[in-house]
Amino acid sequence: MPTAVREPRLVVFNEPLARGLGLDAEGFTKADPAEVAALFAGNRLPEGAEPLAQAYAGHQFGRFTVLGDGRAILLGEQRAPDGRLWDIQLKGPGRTPYSRGGDGRAAVGPMLREYLISEAMHALGIPTTRSLAVVATGEPVFREQTLPGAVLTRVAASHLRVGTFEYAAASGDRAVLEALFEYAAARHDPGLEPGAERPLEWLRAVAERQASLLARWIGVGFVHGVMNTDNMAISGETIDYGPCAFLDAYSPGMVFSSIDHQGRYAFANQPRIAQWNLARLAEAVLPLLDEDETRAVEKANGVLEMFPTRFREHWLAGMRAKLGLAEEEPEDAALVDALLEDMQSRQADFTNTFLDLTMKDPAAEWDADTEEFRAWRRRWMERRLRERGPAETSQERMRRSNPAYIPRNARVEEALEAAAKDGDLEPFGKLLDVVRNPYAHDRDLPRYSAPPPADTPRYRTYCGT
Ligand code: AMP
Ligand code: MG
Repeated sequence: MPTAVREPRLVVFNEPLARGLGLDAEGFTKADPAEVAALFAGNRLPEGAEPLAQAYAGHQFGRFTVLGDGRAILLGEQRAPDGRLWDIQLKGPGRTPYSRGGDGRAAVGPMLREYLISEAMHALGIPTTRSLAVVATGEPVFREQTLPGAVLTRVAASHLRVGTFEYAAASGDRAVLEALFEYAAARHDPGLEPGAERPLEWLRAVAERQASLLARWIGVGFVHGVMNTDNMAISGETIDYGPCAFLDAYSPGMVFSSIDHQGRYAFANQPRIAQWNLARLAEAVLPLLDEDETRAVEKANGVLEMFPTRFREHWLAGMRAKLGLAEEEPEDAALVDALLEDMQSRQADFTNTFLDLTMKDPAAEWDADTEEFRAWRRRWMERRLRERGPAETSQERMRRSNPAYIPRNARVEEALEAAAKDGDLEPFGKLLDVVRNPYAHDRDLPRYSAPPPADTPRYRTYCGT
């Protein structure tokens, strides 16, 4: 059960999400604010809720650990009007049997961060858990500093993780593993053909969602920061917004998380880590893939070995779209690689380079232009001439694929600081409005699109635990 808090106060509420879930969004906005805050703080349970904390395990930075919802409680499921089923979970509602030494609590800053970045990801068209509300608890949480406490309401297609399967496998009870598999398959992959190969096809489907998701992350410069197996969802949604950040300058080795000393979760390493995590999932479900262990391993390897190819296909499709290309030519990958190499050498801003390619005349001379970049643009223009569709279609494709606005690190910090320190939600509200409309190319908001000044020290993120 959630532990009641002293003085809950609603900080943000996601009305469009509430409507999509089939909740009475208007009712919430008209109701007594104290009642609404009590609900999203866990002080009062919604009708029909059966709270529970989920068990899971996970490889954290490569090491196996038994974990579980140490600071999260699932309230239940909501059937949306479109028939889809959603988990509704409180994050930060107090101690659970899995809290170990922790307090089961969360702070306002990190919860608003999750709200903001998950909304940005959703608006970018990237599968993600969502955030329905953030409530300030009126109680302090004790970290390196004393911080104001908060509870976030997270909405997810499910909270099943790779680590949930690792937990079931570690139990050594085949019936538990089978029950979990059946539940997950029914929930996320109801269309699988029945038969002996169903678990293998399920594994392939999970891997395919990850290949697609990772390509989407890479396409917007997203660094998750803590891709432990307990933070990889079977549904293919981005989950856990602890230390994540977006690239400014393009740098494949970029790491933001203060605890990722080895660069395990560096920007360009993410697809490899996804594959590594899927290998842990495959190990967990190995007994379901085939009665014969050698054959089970061969089957699993068949899926895992395809992962880099599938990722690369999704990536290339995404990069073609970013460059306004619909036709497929064998030299396209080399064209993209040449651009990325040039961007890396110039430390060009990731988002704004693609934005400029979308909005500017590539034949003109640009500010701070280089001979190499001009040469690359000429090569790209020649390639675009071979597109069969009209130029407007190509530009439209670029507009849909290249955001004008991402949550810039400096703007995020500024908004969270104002909210958490001074209770001033205005910067947060403004930034939220900007990142909820990432493809609004006609909006002129230089403060939100500007890269950081050249001498800015590297942005550092923390797990917020
Ligand atoms: P994360 O690194 O955020 O994925 O969290 C890893 C594990 O630590 C999860 O099992 C969390 O439930 C647990 N955890 C994180 N913060 C707390 C906290 N304040 N109290 C109890 N458990 C926590
Ligand atoms: Mg986590």
